[in-house]
Amino acid sequence: MSTSLDGRINRRKFIEAATICAGCAVLPLGFSYERADFFGLINTALAENKKKEALTSSKLHEALFYKKLQNNRIECQLCPRNCTVTDKERGHCEVRENRDGIYYTLVYGNPCTTNIDPIEKKPFFHYLPGSTAFSLATAGCNIDCKFCQNWQISQARPEAVKSMKLSPSEIADLAIGYNCQSIAYTYSEPTVFYEYVRDCAIEGQKRGLNSAVISNGFIQAEPLNELLPHLKAMKVDLKSFSQKYYSDICNADLQPVLDTIKLLKKSGLWLEIVYLMLPTLNDSPQEIQSLSKWILNEIGPDVPIHFTRFHPEYLLTNLPPTPVESLECAYEIAKKNGINFPYVGNVYGHRYENTYCPKCQAEIIVRSGFKIQKLAITEGRCELCGRNIPGVWS
Ligand code: SF4
Repeated sequence: MSTSLDGRINRRKFIEAATICAGCAVLPLGFSYERADFFGLINTALAENKKKEALTSSKLHEALFYKKLQNNRIECQLCPRNCTVTDKERGHCEVRENRDGIYYTLVYGNPCTTNIDPIEKKPFFHYLPGSTAFSLATAGCNIDCKFCQNWQISQARPEAVKSMKLSPSEIADLAIGYNCQSIAYTYSEPTVFYEYVRDCAIEGQKRGLNSAVISNGFIQAEPLNELLPHLKAMKVDLKSFSQKYYSDICNADLQPVLDTIKLLKKSGLWLEIVYLMLPTLNDSPQEIQSLSKWILNEIGPDVPIHFTRFHPEYLLTNLPPTPVESLECAYEIAKKNGINFPYVGNVYGHRYENTYCPKCQAEIIVRSGFKIQKLAITEGRCELCGRNIPGVWS
């Protein structure tokens, strides 16, 4: 049995409570994906690999960042949950297992989904616009968002999803082969497949490929610091600016995520933030005002923040999609507070998906969905007034 040190409830109890509260049925794991593009990239090599060994017969890879305790128990020190795991049991994320006092990752080299995505889909708006990323995910997540759009894999045990067998060097070769500029670790939570992320990023670096992590930010400082030299960018999903929301909706904590954001900003790694707005739950002007002030004081005005539209999903199908007016209101509050690059997301063709120069107000990147229609930045500067536009542009 795994427990967290602060006594937080386990995944099963949290989801059971959520299902009762929401009064809605949970779709079975066999439910066919609406996001068919999860499985968009399967080339001959992958098809052959899919036929190879099942997960259970794969060679296990010892996990990083855990401490051995008495009686074959271990304490995982990868994320702030700090699971204590007894022999033959798994941590909360369900992808790390204690076998005779040694902790293993069960998903190393076993992505359950790969795809080639526009980088704007992650979303990154100030990082190599118009480029593509070789995206991958394994099963598992360390938090339990009731609105998760990828719950079929994030809330699944590895044996419940179809997985491929791809070494880090094969991932890097595939990314190069498909002319991607980055490898993106995304869809589920890269923290729980940390060892695989690290080794793929190292293999990518050897070939001149960047790595970009799309994360909930719920990770401890030491593993994050060790990963940073191998990354080029990170996007953090800040779920809310309220601990109550983190407890009630995500079964997690706010402060470690804020700490991650501050650490990333200090490190100099390119950082963008996404704030998914759920009607009535985290969209009040007061909350956006507090969030904007925190961003300005702690990480400055130049970190892009994307206020994105929620679509009813998983355990929160009782909520409507986010009204566009709420997203525009959040954008304007952020702007008034001095944040230079707020965005509205998941609203096709909206003018607030474009980038405006903070000095001359010119439209310097025009987007249409995931496509770049205009790019007026040269050597990191606005082509009209010369103002520095922060980001990774080449
Ligand atoms: S990474 Fe997984 S096992 Fe480790 S502390 Fe977090 S939830 Fe627990």
